[in-house]
Amino acid sequence: KNKAQQGILRAHILMLTDADFHEQMKNALEKQLENIEWIVWSISHKLVQTLLASPNAQLRERAGDISDVSHSILNKLLAVTQVSLSNLTEDCIVVAHDIPPSAALTIDKKHIKAIAIDAGSATSHTAILARSFQMPAVVGLSCASQFINSGDVIIVDGNSGCVIINPNEKTLLQYQNEMDLYEKKSNSLRPLRELPAVTKDGKQFVLKANIEVPTEAEKIAAYGAEGIGLYRSEFLFLSAGCGAEEELQYKAYSDVIKSAGTLPVTIRTIDVGGDKMMPNFFRTEERNPLLGWRAIRFSLAMPELFKAQLRAILRAGVHGNAQIMFPMISCVDELEQALAILEEAKNECKEKKQKIAENIKVGTMIEVPSAVIIADILAKKCDFFSIGTNDLMQYTFAVDRGNEKVSYLADHLHPAMLRMIKCTIDAAHNAGIKVTMCGEMAGNTNVTPILAGLGLDSFSMSASLIPEVKSVIRNSCYEDCRTLAEKSLTCEHSSDVQKLLKKFAKK
Ligand code: PEP
Ligand code: MG
Repeated sequence: KNKAQQGILRAHILMLTDADFHEQMKNALEKQLENIEWIVWSISHKLVQTLLASPNAQLRERAGDISDVSHSILNKLLAVTQVSLSNLTEDCIVVAHDIPPSAALTIDKKHIKAIAIDAGSATSHTAILARSFQMPAVVGLSCASQFINSGDVIIVDGNSGCVIINPNEKTLLQYQNEMDLYEKKSNSLRPLRELPAVTKDGKQFVLKANIEVPTEAEKIAAYGAEGIGLYRSEFLFLSAGCGAEEELQYKAYSDVIKSAGTLPVTIRTIDVGGDKMMPNFFRTEERNPLLGWRAIRFSLAMPELFKAQLRAILRAGVHGNAQIMFPMISCVDELEQALAILEEAKNECKEKKQKIAENIKVGTMIEVPSAVIIADILAKKCDFFSIGTNDLMQYTFAVDRGNEKVSYLADHLHPAMLRMIKCTIDAAHNAGIKVTMCGEMAGNTNVTPILAGLGLDSFSMSASLIPEVKSVIRNSCYEDCRTLAEKSLTCEHSSDVQKLLKKFAKK
């Protein structure tokens, strides 16, 4: 353990040996005659809630430690065994009801060949992680985990979203052929790596990669990525718990920035909450976590943690070309507050005579409908936009992105989606700033011509999808894309947009 981690552990031990804490438990046990698990939970829960309600930011941030320690005690008392998905000894396919993103992050990529889960949709974070790991995955299967038994042979077809249990010889052979074809197609796109994403009539786009873990940064060049359009920094916290202290972050961000060389790296500030709960940390038991204490809302409530992250990015920024991006901005005040805290972070670094990327560019994620509506105002206060279509769909269509029962409603071709993208791009361009799209829609080759025609400047996606998107762009004419986009904005149904796309593809 490093110094900072030792400090955290020492604080946890102090809490565990605190006489007051013991006394409270003892009294409650004797007076209330309730079981010890309930008493541990209720006392620590009360303490956490009191701390979270404190006007003092430092006290609020201590709530995480209490929560962490009490969950460790409870896990021991309840004999909860955590199933580990890391360090396996045999090849396997994981079938489960759900895998939370914090567990998906630890997946043993050597031995786990595919995953099949009951919950989720194509834009849930576990599916996004699987895509990044290039691991075949089918999500939203409802109840597959009840039908599949240990030892069954299964095929996980991530292309069709189908799982076949105990297939016959013929099906196995057919899938072997499909795998070979897939491999051939990927190889045939490899030469595109060196070529620009330019249409036949000369309109150029920028294709970037999304990453979740720092080591992915080394691999993006192999796919021809022109930078990192989204580094989901929260995964650092999901794996390190609340102890992702400034130095650990500084090292991780520096590694990513150095790997990218001169290419831009957009580091999104922590987006925890919703479906990305830090293990043992801040389980605030919200009724609607996706509408709750997430992303920038969490950061603004925890200014010391937020500032530590901003300082780490500013310091790491001197190693290359970094940008900062704020998630889930829903009103101007949030952006202004975040910018003010960024200034404080800069001043603190300067006071310590630390070298920083003083003129770092700052972007706003457009992923809440209110941000689309006020995009013209937001555009004047930041350097770029990035459209997070995963959340934009979730909040526009009122569709929980982790809920397989309603995932059919999350539709990239929905006229509302296309109009909101157009509105965002126009507002940005009127203010002279550029727009990236970093949600999963950016890697959906079906809609690439429309997005190009709407004037999107840059697409950011799982690196392995870049060659296919580039191929679509290189085979299209910008003028045709513009006509297609214009027509699609007049459609009433997404099926009409689909028809237009089919016609376009034939041409
Ligand atoms: C999005 O919402 O589209 C996005 C890119 O962010 P995340 O998927 O991490 O919520
Ligand atoms: Mg999002």
